[in-house]
Amino acid sequence: MNLDQSKIPQATAKRLPLYYRFIKNLHASGKQRVSSAELSEAVKVDSATIRRDFSYFGALGKKGYGYNVNYLLSFFSKTLDQDELTKVTLIGVGNLGTAFLHYNFSKNNNTKIELAFDVDYNKVGSTVGGVQVYHLDDLEEKLPDDVSVAILTVPVGAAQPITDRLVSKGIKGILNFTPARIHVPDHIRVHHIDLAVELQALVYFLKHYSGEE
Ligand code: ATP
Repeated sequence: MNLDQSKIPQATAKRLPLYYRFIKNLHASGKQRVSSAELSEAVKVDSATIRRDFSYFGALGKKGYGYNVNYLLSFFSKTLDQDELTKVTLIGVGNLGTAFLHYNFSKNNNTKIELAFDVDYNKVGSTVGGVQVYHLDDLEEKLPDDVSVAILTVPVGAAQPITDRLVSKGIKGILNFTPARIHVPDHIRVHHIDLAVELQALVYFLKHYSGEE
């Protein structure tokens, strides 16, 4: 199971958490094996893609047998570093930020929002979903060095200056929920989720492609 993770394509790596969640459920229900067709139905990824993805993991399904659930489970938990807690900060405790603070990420993943920042004095000093909110002015002082990921739920104009400060502080990954295209050095990973664009894209697909494969 010692494979070179740099060889796993990024598109495959992005599907790992999806596979992992489903395999965990299968394992919990006592299932020993799963076919790529079953997986495909559950995670809505076509079975050819699943077979290709799994071949990168060294998991070679056998015809008429499928994949071994225990093998996959131990592979995913190792690969996704589930033994190690990833600490996260959230910037911008507005409607979306508040929802994330109340959402218990650690139920399914080993990630935890440790602290949050905002500029609104009605929010600074409060605790939301068990997470302390600090003033953004105190970012450099309060953000612990072991917090490696930041979630950005601030207004668009605030995104880049905050990003620059996070990068200087040593953050490694940013989950950007603002519509801003933020610029970061090459070694920083940004995942951009623009909910309005996603919703629009979905509506467009429903209108123009529904019923087609
Ligand atoms: P709300 O209804 O609480 O204002 P919202 O999500 O509709 O939330 P936004 O204007 O998107 O409002 O702001 C999101 C959050 O980001 C708010 O809590 C706001 O106080 C905070 N915020 C605004 N500017 C900054 C900044 N420069 N740094 C950190 N947080 C900021």
